[in-house]
Amino acid sequence: MSGHQTVIITGGSRGIGAETAKLFAQNGFSVCINYKSNDAAAASTLDRISQYGPRCISVKADISVGDEVNRMFDEVERSLGTPSVLVNNAGVLQQQCRLVDMSEARIAEILRTNVMSCFLCCREAVKRMSTRLGGSGGVIVNVSSGAAKSGSPNEYIDYAASKGAIDTLTRGLALEVANEGIRVNAVRPGLIYTDIHAAGGEPDRVNRLSSKIPMQRGGQPSEVAEAIYWLGTDKSSFVTGSFIDASGGL
Ligand code: NAP
Repeated sequence: MSGHQTVIITGGSRGIGAETAKLFAQNGFSVCINYKSNDAAAASTLDRISQYGPRCISVKADISVGDEVNRMFDEVERSLGTPSVLVNNAGVLQQQCRLVDMSEARIAEILRTNVMSCFLCCREAVKRMSTRLGGSGGVIVNVSSGAAKSGSPNEYIDYAASKGAIDTLTRGLALEVANEGIRVNAVRPGLIYTDIHAAGGEPDRVNRLSSKIPMQRGGQPSEVAEAIYWLGTDKSSFVTGSFIDASGGL
């Protein structure tokens, strides 16, 4: 792809998404950071990345809801132009527990936020990017998790299964649109220092488990952002349907 480029990063206001937004802004992309509810975090990240790239916006939208996804894409199209890169990064987990104690509402919420959102955003992106549909091509990077392989027993099998679905979506969509100018890949982070672990009830989870990581340490959000960025640019122009494990060997 050449010319000016626009990236949408779902969940771009905090953690891995915010570091990814910084990297794209530093490299001249117009950047939309999406978030759900934390206005202060979004404002602070927008402020931080705007010093690198003048064309940065934030869009508050719950991407587990189709109408909200459509509104976000419309707003990006109006303000920044047609997106050429989509990073499906937003993801949630809930309190650690065993499957036997999970409510139906919780499982549905995890699958809606982590899986349905990704389908909806991919659909809107493909509509705009596909050369078969008159677009100029593009790149989709999904943020999966090492949990897709470990299954996260006793902690959150629902979350792990949602990431397994992301891996399957990545592979299937990559093959479906490979000759329509769209590459689709995923990054599977391991244990990364972000706020997500607090939502599981254990803010210090990365440190507790770091001795199990072959590299003997947790990862920084910036180390995952680099992998996402590489997949989002022409540097990886012959890579599709692939996965990068950013997990210190786990
Ligand atoms: P985080 O720090 O908790 O940030 C989550 C981001 O997602 C926030 O910007 C949040 O917005 C947004 N978000 C949540 N639900 C949303 C929704 N329905 N609509 C729009 N935005 C929503 O998370 P993180 O640790 O950086 O994780 C980023 C991705 O990496 C996730 O997919 C996660 O599963 C994956 N991952 C993380 C780790 C890790 O160890 N951290 C490991 C493997 C995979 P608000 O602040 O407004 O709620």
